[in-house]
Amino acid sequence: MLPRKCGIRFSSIIRAVGLASILLLLLPIALQAEQNSNHVVCRDEVSPERREQLAAKLRNITGLPDLNFDDKGILRLGGRTPLAGSESARALLANAINGRNVVVVEDSSNSSEVAFCRVIPARWRQHATDLPPAFVIQIDFADFEQVVGDERALEAFNVGWGFLHELDHVVNDSPDATALGDSGECEAHVNQMRRECNLPERADYFSTLLPIDEGAFRTRLVRIAFEQPLPTANKKKRYWLVWDANVVGGQEQTAVAALR
Ligand SMILES: [Zn+2]
Repeated sequence: MLPRKCGIRFSSIIRAVGLASILLLLLPIALQAEQNSNHVVCRDEVSPERREQLAAKLRNITGLPDLNFDDKGILRLGGRTPLAGSESARALLANAINGRNVVVVEDSSNSSEVAFCRVIPARWRQHATDLPPAFVIQIDFADFEQVVGDERALEAFNVGWGFLHELDHVVNDSPDATALGDSGECEAHVNQMRRECNLPERADYFSTLLPIDEGAFRTRLVRIAFEQPLPTANKKKRYWLVWDANVVGGQEQTAVAALR
């Protein structure tokens, strides 16, 4: 969700990551997903509280009142028709569930490697040629608790939005931005969902250092802007989110942020 190795396409990034980052998955997860023809599933280690935390945000974004993770950890969208919410987010989730790839949700809270969320390729523990490609979406739930800022921007940047960002990489092979001043193709898809929810859009993919004298602080405060057009004027209202990059972690973020 935040800067990692910059590549051209998401698939190029996956090739560049190499074997070092590949996780070994338990085979039962694949069989579970295959038998249920539903390709988004939580790892057993993700607690019921964390599953519900993610499901609640996704219910809010999609408007699907019955969306949840069932007792096997499999994502269910439910049958009831939504009254509101993002149509694009519903389509993305449906494409992921019915898609070729298996997506496994992992709790990576308090990991210094993961800034909010990231997705990495995985490999099955037992060699089998008929198993589908697999990806792990790692979520650092604790990072989202570090973010402060404008209420409207906080609504547009939570664990649900982070999950959808990573899912878009897997389903649509969409790349992130490579330069400041751009939100990137992946976030453009997520911004469409924010528009459908009447929320401000993420204006930049990269966070930037807060313009303060950091010499006096141990923190490394960074910020990201969200913008929404004002209905009566040809202007946009800007909302800010701020967090301490030293606490949130991630490898590339602070180096790029230093460019401002
Ligand atoms: Zn991304």
